[in-house]
Amino acid sequence: MPAAHILIAGGGIAGLASALALARRRHRVDLFEQAVAFGQVGAGIQLGPNVTRRLQSLGVWEPLVRVAARPEALVVRSASGGREIARLPLGNAMLRSYGSPYLCLHRADLHTLLLAAVRGSGAATLNTGVRIADAVARDNAVCVSSTDSRAWEGDALVGADGLWSTLRSRVVEDSPPRPTGHTAWRALVAQSALPPGLRSTQISVWLGPRLHAVAYPVRRGEALNVVVLAEAAPAGDARDWDQATSLGALQMATGRTCAGLQALLEAMPSWGAWALSDRPPLTGPEQMACERVALAGDAAHPMLPYLAQGAGMAIEDGVALAEALGGGDSEAVPAALARYAAARWERNARVQARARRNGEIFHATGLVRMSRDAALRLLGARLLDQPWLYGA
Ligand SMILES: Cc1cc2nc3c(=O)[nH]c(=O)nc-3n(C[C@H](O)[C@H](O)[C@H](O)COP(=O)(O)OP(=O)(O)OC[C@H]3O[C@@H](n4cnc5c(N)ncnc54)[C@H](O)[C@@H]3O)c2cc1C
Repeated sequence: MPAAHILIAGGGIAGLASALALARRRHRVDLFEQAVAFGQVGAGIQLGPNVTRRLQSLGVWEPLVRVAARPEALVVRSASGGREIARLPLGNAMLRSYGSPYLCLHRADLHTLLLAAVRGSGAATLNTGVRIADAVARDNAVCVSSTDSRAWEGDALVGADGLWSTLRSRVVEDSPPRPTGHTAWRALVAQSALPPGLRSTQISVWLGPRLHAVAYPVRRGEALNVVVLAEAAPAGDARDWDQATSLGALQMATGRTCAGLQALLEAMPSWGAWALSDRPPLTGPEQMACERVALAGDAAHPMLPYLAQGAGMAIEDGVALAEALGGGDSEAVPAALARYAAARWERNARVQARARRNGEIFHATGLVRMSRDAALRLLGARLLDQPWLYGA
């Protein structure tokens, strides 16, 4: 049976993971990325065992472990007092429980290794500097056009064009992403530039009223990624992942924090800010695929980073898409995309909802905060582990 010809709009993690998964099944892929070149951007990304298992199945295990850090544990502390509240062993414990490790990466490293694998597959054409503007159905095909009036035809289109997706409206009519009023302040530092007491091999989480902070190693442990999430909006463009900001602006948003966290924040060489937006969880498979157009990654289900699974769900989408298409031919494509949507929408919606709920729990104040800490002290790893997520 002849393989299908799949067009993909967007060369982020969702677009590249989909391209790789499809190319491995011998489908012909044309990927379009609006940027004139694939850039090395972003900061840290955590990948749970559910994601590392899928990356292993995509044949990128060796490049992955070459650039990843494998944190020993996730340790939750109070942002005001610094005391340890709970701990989840990661390292070998995750491997034992789920058969695959918990890894932390720089987004640029993940992007680079996926890009190299797609290039190496020989089955994908990568077109940069092409912004897809529209898609129309035509007989047994889909025709896409770019903003500079070029056109391509394929058996299916995957809209992997991110949070501000243009192609989402081909599948679902809804409003633009909603600003959440939360901002992520992000910094990256070489561990060798930090005093020994601030270096870390763990994922550290500090919970405070209306804020939390996360620090974890990336790049084989050579760099430390630090993110502070607080309920304050920066003035700049919501589409800018890396607005210039300062330690002073960050401290205005966080107020006083414990000495350990304060010292870490002060040790960062520079800060970037990113205003967070999301969409409500998906409500059905018809919001992920329609006829010959399917959505993947943030275009379908942008989420707050409070479960650390945005990139993870994008990678899961890519693998599921290729599984649904199998080796199928052009005529079978709409049914295959419907199967893909049916397999993915509910899990994505659950992760979106849990990420939002985590934000409320992490940032709790008053009595809710006290109850949260008591529950974490009592149940620790049982509350922090996510078998429904990591085991699937
Ligand atoms: C620049 C950048 C930095 C990021 N940094 C981090 C980070 O540090 N930590 C983190 O956890 N997550 C980060 N993310 C988000 C994370 O990568 C995504 O949440 C997740 O991986 C989902 O990826 P995605 O491919 O669906 O969306 P995205 O990563 O947003 O990728 C979408 C891609 O589509 C392209 N595109 C958009 N519209 C069109 C169009 N019409 N035609 C063609 N191409 C188009 C975009 O240029 C982009 O390359 C970042 C995303 C971006 C774009």
